[in-house]
Amino acid sequence: MSHNPVRPWRNIDRRESRQIMVGNVPVGGGAPISVQTMTNTDTSDVAATVAQIQRAADVGADIVRVSTPDQAATKALKEIVRESPVPIVADIHFHYKRAIEAAEAGAACLRINPGNIGDSKRVAEVVQAAKDHGCSIRIGVNAGSLEKHLLEKYGEPCPDAMLESGLDHIRILQDHDFHEFKISVKASDVFMAAAAYQQLAEATDAPIHLGITEAGGLMSGTIKSAIGLGNLLWMGIGDTLRVSLSADPVEEVKVGFEILKSLGLRHRGVNIISCPSCARQGFDVIKTVEVLEERLEHIKTPMSLSIIGCVVNGPGEALLTDVGFTGGGAGSGMVYMAGAQSHKMSNDQMVDHIVELVEKRAAEIEVEATPDAAE
Ligand code: SF4
Repeated sequence: MSHNPVRPWRNIDRRESRQIMVGNVPVGGGAPISVQTMTNTDTSDVAATVAQIQRAADVGADIVRVSTPDQAATKALKEIVRESPVPIVADIHFHYKRAIEAAEAGAACLRINPGNIGDSKRVAEVVQAAKDHGCSIRIGVNAGSLEKHLLEKYGEPCPDAMLESGLDHIRILQDHDFHEFKISVKASDVFMAAAAYQQLAEATDAPIHLGITEAGGLMSGTIKSAIGLGNLLWMGIGDTLRVSLSADPVEEVKVGFEILKSLGLRHRGVNIISCPSCARQGFDVIKTVEVLEERLEHIKTPMSLSIIGCVVNGPGEALLTDVGFTGGGAGSGMVYMAGAQSHKMSNDQMVDHIVELVEKRAAEIEVEATPDAAE
């Protein structure tokens, strides 16, 4: 992460980790923190699964996980992989044969715990399939499904038990000379997950997949994830993440990006800065922001837009944004471009106008970012 000498209080020192590849997406080793989600369709329904993957990719998902509980699912996986715009992780629990089938079907990564699939011969077969087909592996420790002997040893799920489980799985892969793995130690309890991840970050240089598991519905799960993942990311821990919500996977991706955007770790799309509004507002701020969020969803270029109800905070916020609108009086407001006052615009035409300005500015930023733009 590049350091910000002007605003040092914004710096996050990311933990150094090895880099692995999930398909064409680098994970760890300073790569951008990737955002993942998981489909909740029936995997054997290829059309529905691909449609859901596409929707998740449209809002920025870098990687999508698909559950492959049976042979029908691993059979469908081949076509899903072929049609998916992003690398696919196959989620496998105990059946080592599903892992081999998923690797053969083109999964970019297998989510499997080597300690759960049986004897060393089976592990060797899975590892060989992963090597043959260029798959990485995610070890996924979950506080809710810790090994019996660890629960007996520690009495209950706890960070020490999760770490021990994770390190046991790591050792198995290393014993089979397999190093293309990342690891997660998820819990639904924010304190337990955060403590386990901190210990894990000290104990290994493997890339870390962050998640608060079974976080809850859209609102409660978002808050829980923002607190748990936000703290870890702020400490520099985490190379890829999934926000788990009992909600549409699209929402998981959006929340993941918002967490990263809040910490300045990833930038995608329009970052809207808006005031909560009050009696001073010169237009309906809440409704306008709601409409703009939807109308600007297609913009991928990182940029900022301030929508502020009145001059109390409008000009100040506009100073730091690419495009700004500040409510004024008599049914119109002021448009700001790159912090400078530009022109007046009537409230009833401002949404269309702002969308146009943002689209135009996004296109300019893209051209400026093209390496040969200056030639
Ligand atoms: S910027 Fe103006 S309208 Fe918005 S909350 Fe502040 S005082 Fe109210």
